[in-house]
Amino acid sequence: MVKRTADQWWRLLQSVPDPEIPVLNVVEMGIVREVIPDQSRVLIKITPTYMGCPAMDAISDDIQEKLREPAQQEGLSVDVELVYAPAWTTDWLTEGAQQKLEDYGIAPPGKTADKRTLQGEAPMVRCPRCKASNTEMVSLFGSTACKAHYRCNACSEPFDHFKCI
Ligand SMILES: [Zn+2]
Repeated sequence: MVKRTADQWWRLLQSVPDPEIPVLNVVEMGIVREVIPDQSRVLIKITPTYMGCPAMDAISDDIQEKLREPAQQEGLSVDVELVYAPAWTTDWLTEGAQQKLEDYGIAPPGKTADKRTLQGEAPMVRCPRCKASNTEMVSLFGSTACKAHYRCNACSEPFDHFKCI
């Protein structure tokens, strides 16, 4: 039986959606750090989007579930290891991922060195619907801990902003 290459394992991981943002997969999220297949197992190293993010257990389970069968075909086990350093930042989202977030109606995160954030102000967030930057934060926590709830003052639509850094 031909062994899968690391690239092929990466491709399989692209079919694992992020549990909080189902339009993105775990590779697009930049959560998957390394994929190391060896003689006895395939090791997947993932980095949590932030400390204590409750979605991480779900992501680990989803990866195990998706890879278990292909791994068994090769007589391998699947190990998912959490790596905390270097810490995940929203810069690890792929360019395509930022666009997908906006299309999904979630304002994508800005770059981490946002000047307003450094000054302790709420970051400028663009409305994913009408693209106005005249928005205000309604609540620090949206539908999940990773999102803040915003309202657009231009079109008065509420929306989520993905805020993990
Ligand atoms: Zn708007």
